[in-house]
Amino acid sequence: MERWLVTGGAGFIGSNFILAARREKRAEILNLDRLTYAGNTANLESLESDPGYRLLPGDIADRDLVRKALADFSPAAVFHFAAESHVDRSIEGPAIFLRTNVEGTFSLLEESRRYFDALPSNEKGRFRFLHVSTDEVFGSLSPSDPPFNERTPYAPNSPYAASKAASDHFVRAWFHTYGLPVLTTNCSNNYGPFQFPEKLVPTAILSALKGKDVPVYGDGMNIRDWLFVEDHCQALFRVHERGVPGETYNVGGGNERTNLQMVSALLTLLDKKRPRPDGLSHLERIRFVPDRPGHDRRYAIDGSRLRRELSWTPAHAFDQALEKTVDWYLDNEAWWKALASRHEAGTRQGLIAGG
Ligand code: NAD
Repeated sequence: MERWLVTGGAGFIGSNFILAARREKRAEILNLDRLTYAGNTANLESLESDPGYRLLPGDIADRDLVRKALADFSPAAVFHFAAESHVDRSIEGPAIFLRTNVEGTFSLLEESRRYFDALPSNEKGRFRFLHVSTDEVFGSLSPSDPPFNERTPYAPNSPYAASKAASDHFVRAWFHTYGLPVLTTNCSNNYGPFQFPEKLVPTAILSALKGKDVPVYGDGMNIRDWLFVEDHCQALFRVHERGVPGETYNVGGGNERTNLQMVSALLTLLDKKRPRPDGLSHLERIRFVPDRPGHDRRYAIDGSRLRRELSWTPAHAFDQALEKTVDWYLDNEAWWKALASRHEAGTRQGLIAGG
């Protein structure tokens, strides 16, 4: 079986990715994760006795550690998820975003290049460095603009988006300059199990369950394109298998929703599944809070390249996956209760992510 080095695998998307990879017996995995506030080993508890999975706690910016991990584990691929990922945190403290997202990616690229150069020629052909990025690098769309495609110029607006855009450029340069076989994916907003409670979907569900106000930024009309996290993971498998090195692929769900529509859909599901004891609708608890500075108005993804060239489409319908997500948070109270103190210590009350 192949071996894959995954970075940031204790986070939201990375842990879903590792669980799917192990479930489908795709590869043995070494997970290099610094276990920041967003890294949660409980996400991977079900793999505790799996000999095909191992956690290596550590920083992607630690070149010696990365070098040793690559040499000892000798992976056929690197899947790079590790990042600081929360836009609000990037506004309050951008330095760590530069360090992890840019310097960390640089460190990983440099060590992967050395590792790749030293591979025997018969192993070089299958090595891939897959960089997981975001649609936020493209900036904001007006209502009439066509969705982002792979040729849309970069125009990042938040410190988070700027750091991811910079990392995408480094990845591209390591292909063109050094011949490292890289693939970059730019994905829209994900929702699903194991998402840290500071992001929009878990914030809405968990605030309602705790009987608190449900905060929505500005007028609630910011639009995001939503993709179920398990579909994102399948897209990454497909890009790894069939993607052309040096190319970028946009991954989207084709589900544009305003933040207010998204929150309302979640609260309507909760009205059915966990009605409020006072008989009122959870929708009554929506509260508009002052907008995030520089809040991008609309993201939308043109995912036709992935469909056309790699024959990939999302397997989940939006409504069903949203319901599955709500059910997961209802069924996994111990998971989110254990995170409550970590979340509340680090986040200003009332702030939620649009991306
Ligand atoms: P997350 O914040 O849930 O997880 C990030 C993980 O990276 C955590 O486990 C954290 O401990 C780890 N990490 C942080 N700094 C590290 C460092 N220096 N060294 C090693 N590990 C470190 O993030 P996520 O939502 O799972 O996103 C994963 C990736 O996908 C990110 O690169 C993000 O930009 C990208 N992305 C996310 C979304 C989304 O909707 N969440 C959409 C598109 C792209």
